[in-house]
Amino acid sequence: MMHKIALLLVEDEPHIAQGLVFNLEEEGYLVTHVESGEHALELLAINSYALIILDLALPGIDGLEVCDRLREEENQIPILMLTARGTEQDRIIGLSKGADDYLAKPFNLKEFLLRVAGLLRRANWQTDQPKNKLYTFGNNQIDLETDQAITAKGTIQLTELEMKMLRLFFAQEGKVLSRGELLKQVWGMSPETETRTLDNFIVRVRKYFEIDPTKPRFFLTIRGRGYRFIQSPE
Ligand code: CA
Repeated sequence: MMHKIALLLVEDEPHIAQGLVFNLEEEGYLVTHVESGEHALELLAINSYALIILDLALPGIDGLEVCDRLREEENQIPILMLTARGTEQDRIIGLSKGADDYLAKPFNLKEFLLRVAGLLRRANWQTDQPKNKLYTFGNNQIDLETDQAITAKGTIQLTELEMKMLRLFFAQEGKVLSRGELLKQVWGMSPETETRTLDNFIVRVRKYFEIDPTKPRFFLTIRGRGYRFIQSPE
């Protein structure tokens, strides 16, 4: 199943946002649009996106502040900064705050889409470089290249979907992933889809990796919110 790349657009001007959402969706991206920095940070704390398109001038917390906070938290998500101001000084400030690229309004739509694609390509290239192809938690070791897991219960060949979900958990270690987000990212389903698939997956993953699957220590259920993976439980 083809799964869409999730982007977060932070833009307070409705007509600009509308145009960008329309064109990004035409390109096949899954776009979440919010109008404030506060809302963006809330979503970023619980969801994962491949890229943020971030307007600089926002009411409340502005784009620079959002950038600053994310980088302070060591969130390395690629950021494309948009601004009405096109001075060199603004550009330098944006980049020094950790934006990966910068586009001054008004911009050419084609250039905008190319920059988005370019940032995603670079981010992919970076994450494709295996820093460490083994991921370890508890007595479990997962080979991220062969998708094989060595567990206390033996060696398991993981499926593509299982790996997709595990990678998501590993990348967001310690954070709560909502059911909607997991369904969207792993299966490409809309968050509204009612499904038992996810629950069955979690049951299976616990069976593989938890010493006592009925008392999970690594793959935790957070009631009413989703699931959290902990690499080193106390
Ligand atoms: Ca604005």
